[in-house]
Amino acid sequence: MILFKKITDLHKWLDVQHKKGHRMGFVPTMGALHYGHISLIEASKKENSFTVCSLFINPAQFNDPNDFTKYPVTLENDIMMLEAAGNDVLFLPSVKEIYPGDKATNIHTNYELGYLETVLEGKFRPGHFQGVCRVVQRLLEIVQPDNLYLGQKDYQQCMVISRLVEILNFDRKINVHICPTVRETDGLAMSSRNLRLNKEERKRATEIYRCLCMIKGNLHQQDLAIIRKEAQTHLEKAGFKIDYVEIADAGNLFPVTIWNGKSQLVALIAVFLNEVRLIDNMLLNQ
Ligand code: AMP
Repeated sequence: MILFKKITDLHKWLDVQHKKGHRMGFVPTMGALHYGHISLIEASKKENSFTVCSLFINPAQFNDPNDFTKYPVTLENDIMMLEAAGNDVLFLPSVKEIYPGDKATNIHTNYELGYLETVLEGKFRPGHFQGVCRVVQRLLEIVQPDNLYLGQKDYQQCMVISRLVEILNFDRKINVHICPTVRETDGLAMSSRNLRLNKEERKRATEIYRCLCMIKGNLHQQDLAIIRKEAQTHLEKAGFKIDYVEIADAGNLFPVTIWNGKSQLVALIAVFLNEVRLIDNMLLNQ
């Protein structure tokens, strides 16, 4: 694996690959890698001549400064995992490289995300998706991939980035691929934030997956409003602080209370276990 910290060095290498007509897959991450990330690398390796993974903890997307300072850093292990997965290039830029000069991380940006930005993660993490779009735009301009790999674990983020790719409308077309959520054997969605859970919290965290399964299992038996309320009560009893438990149209994230029995639904959960915020989702009628 080749590691680049500077855009100029990365560009020199990429120019050669582009001239050879090689197809490139790109996997942006914030590090503290787990098998969920590696599954994206594997998906990219199957469909491209080479794969670039970026590792950059983006200050612009953290609405909570505490969450930013406590974000896990496991660089040595990340490099070993990427090597073992056969990743070709690791792009490891500094904050200055991504946001040079006066372009402070809090610079005002305004991507037209519409309704998507007003609900769920957008509502509970103001400015978060503007920060995500800002770094993803920058990374896409730098890397110029053919294929971009994202995890369904961050369902709304996938929708936002797909929208961003449409807005940016690059000459070089970027195909967005959404890969399934990878889970621990007990169902907990793999997440870098799981590293911040103590033993007792880690055990309790499986209730999120259990709740999603419960929602899915009850879909045809009960009213959606009742299912949602029951899921909320279940999580509250298990000691979570809830940001949201929602059942929504999977195509646009509009909440659904009366289901026509046909449209694709997704259940989405965001909760705090003490200080750690966890999100997960499940497509309900697949
Ligand atoms: P992050 O490092 O959290 O910014 O995530 C980088 C990419 O990995 C994003 O596209 C995430 O959606 C994806 N990802 C994170 N966790 C998982 C998981 N458990 N399964 C699949 N993809 C994931």
